[in-house]
Amino acid sequence: MLLNPMGLFVFVCICQPRGTMAKSIRIKVDTSQAVDLKHFGSNVVSILYDWFPYVESLLRSPTYQESPVTQFVIKFDPTYAGVAAAYPGKHPPLIRGSVNFYRKRKDDIGSMIHEMAHVIQKYKKCDFWITEGIADWVRYFHYERNRPVRPGRTKSYRDGYATSAYFLNWIESRYKGIIYYLNKSCREGTYTENIFERFTGYNVDQLWEIMQSI
Ligand SMILES: [Zn+2]
Repeated sequence: MLLNPMGLFVFVCICQPRGTMAKSIRIKVDTSQAVDLKHFGSNVVSILYDWFPYVESLLRSPTYQESPVTQFVIKFDPTYAGVAAAYPGKHPPLIRGSVNFYRKRKDDIGSMIHEMAHVIQKYKKCDFWITEGIADWVRYFHYERNRPVRPGRTKSYRDGYATSAYFLNWIESRYKGIIYYLNKSCREGTYTENIFERFTGYNVDQLWEIMQSI
């Protein structure tokens, strides 16, 4: 970890994390507009740095290995009204975090893990609920211990986030590899919803019904 002379930016430079994908990852955090979050920001960077190779391995696919993420920036922004958002297409990729939110919720590192998953996803073509479901699958089924409960019938798998994460994990537990092929096809731009039927023999609505019925 290096601090610049102003002490505003923290750079964590990592050489050769475990795994064979990224040769290195550099994560920069910008707390220049919320100096009280400087310590929190460096804490976020060290946790994301530790988790980066593992999340990469969860979301591995051949085209990613050819062109892995090598750096990204986290900016704590007082003008941002949500929790956090990822901009994977920026150079370098950017995660924006709400200053107001993280001032109150310094325990919510899981939301940053979710955004880091988006940076790594680099999807060309995907459905919203798959993109958000996989990011929350990384968060809830790998990083956090508080896993979402089974969604009831008032929910839809198309809701995204924790509901879709639960559903995708349920499918994965019965048809191992579906998340790999979803991730791969979204990244390569070949995703269609038929992938569920090809992989499991059931279309996505049927899978949701089966999950609800048992
Ligand atoms: Zn998201």
